[in-house]
Amino acid sequence: MKYLISLVALMSVILTLVSSIYSGYRVSKQTLINSTLATNQAYADKLANSTEIYLTMTLQMLEMSSENLASLIENRDEEALLHEAERLKKQTDTFNSVLIVDKEAEILATSPQTLGLKGEKLVSVGGKEALQKREAFISQPYTALTGRLVIFISQPIFDANGQFLGLVGGTIYLKEENILQTVLGEHFYKDGSYVYVVDQSGRIIYHPDPERVDKVIDDNKVIKELMAGHDGAMEVTNSQNKVMLAGYATIPLAKWGVVSQKEKTSAIAPSVSMTNEMIGKTLPFVLVVLILLFIISKQIALPLQKLAYYTETSTENSQEEKINKVTTWYYEANQLKKALNYSLNFFQDRVNFFIHQSTTDPLTKVWNRRSMDETMKKWTEQGRPYALIILDMDKFKRVNDTYGHSTGDEVLKFLASEMKAVSREQDRCCRFGGEEFVILLPETDAAGAYQTAERLRKRMESTVSPCGEIVTISSGVAAFPEHALHPAELLELADQSLYEAKETGRNRTIVQAKQSE
Ligand code: GH3
Ligand code: MG
Ligand code: MG
Repeated sequence: MKYLISLVALMSVILTLVSSIYSGYRVSKQTLINSTLATNQAYADKLANSTEIYLTMTLQMLEMSSENLASLIENRDEEALLHEAERLKKQTDTFNSVLIVDKEAEILATSPQTLGLKGEKLVSVGGKEALQKREAFISQPYTALTGRLVIFISQPIFDANGQFLGLVGGTIYLKEENILQTVLGEHFYKDGSYVYVVDQSGRIIYHPDPERVDKVIDDNKVIKELMAGHDGAMEVTNSQNKVMLAGYATIPLAKWGVVSQKEKTSAIAPSVSMTNEMIGKTLPFVLVVLILLFIISKQIALPLQKLAYYTETSTENSQEEKINKVTTWYYEANQLKKALNYSLNFFQDRVNFFIHQSTTDPLTKVWNRRSMDETMKKWTEQGRPYALIILDMDKFKRVNDTYGHSTGDEVLKFLASEMKAVSREQDRCCRFGGEEFVILLPETDAAGAYQTAERLRKRMESTVSPCGEIVTISSGVAAFPEHALHPAELLELADQSLYEAKETGRNRTIVQAKQSE
């Protein structure tokens, strides 16, 4: 019982605790995920924006240069061309190399000059495409003659009449230190976040890990979204099977996409440590609560335990007393105690009633024949000396005949009360049958019993009975162990004396004369 209450309380405390800690963990985790997604989206947006602005500015700068270059190309001023190429490379810091090309694809000037391409034809994929298009141009990544992975950015050169003269452009070496690193690489890489850039076919243009540049990413939801021209944020599993929280944004000018992402496990790490801290801080509190619970549940269970124990041992007489001593400090236990006492009393009363019924004579309320026999048997077995008076109404038939049977009953009750009046507390008045009665007198000899019998006889002969006249009695007396050693024999002897009393004139007492052998 005590343990049951403790167990229920313990379980509820633990469940409450676990569920609140778990929901705390869930909420903080979700908050971290949401804020990481939002941060990454904002960051991707910002980077896409600055890259877009940067590319726009680069194209504008090349456009301004192309205006100056028109006359220089027309005049084949090699020195000035070289000077311009070097200015572009140095001043802007954008390009790893700068080229000026005429409309026949002949390379007029380069910076750095060490490239050794002057006078050669421009045959690279990006260069050929740019010559063909004759407009502001940003190439897809391609492998140049030098074996480098590059992007080519260029502007066409026109004369005053709009005649195409050639182009001015620069390359960015994707796998070496380049301007994209300066724009993108300042990212907070330490906390597990990083940025990468893909072109329109999903090829990586920029990645903090140079090894991954030029790899094509397919089967990635974020890349698919970027290819569809969408900005946003989502949880995605990357090619290394890591779950990432990614924000992404497009760079419309170059048709590239920027992805800023963070590994989910490192994003939610604070909520894990917060949960651990929470458990650590609540544990002492929980222990105190548990101890209190244990004490309280013991206090609740104690009265019930005691009541249950006393009910189990319900044969003892002092049980009611013990039950009353149980302190019931709360209403329910008190009610239980009352109910227990009530039912105990009820059953005790019933038992007493049945005992009384089976041992007494219903008319005269003295002991019946059965209890008389039992008493004699018991006293004889115990060797307890006692005397026996057997008495019979004189001429009782006549009382019945004259006054009726119910008046006769009243006379019987009257005799019974007179018997009680003359006998001691320890004596037993019994109805032997009909209008014959017996009085058993413990620790009494025949002489003592004779005196009692005489007292009764005298009262009867001097008192008017309920029938309106005096009814006398005759008695026979015998004693154990004086006259006989067996109850039946003793009764027989007393009956003989009674018979003798009747024979010799009634209204008298005769003591058995015969001694036991
Ligand atoms: P005796 O002096 O010889 O004893 O004469 P008696 O008339 O008393 O004779 P006996 O003892 O033979 O008769 C007993 C009568 O007692 C018979 C019966 O009608 C009456 N009697 C026995 N039991 C009851 C009883 O319960 N109520 C009443 N009213 N009468 C009873
Ligand atoms: Mg009789
Ligand atoms: Mg009689």
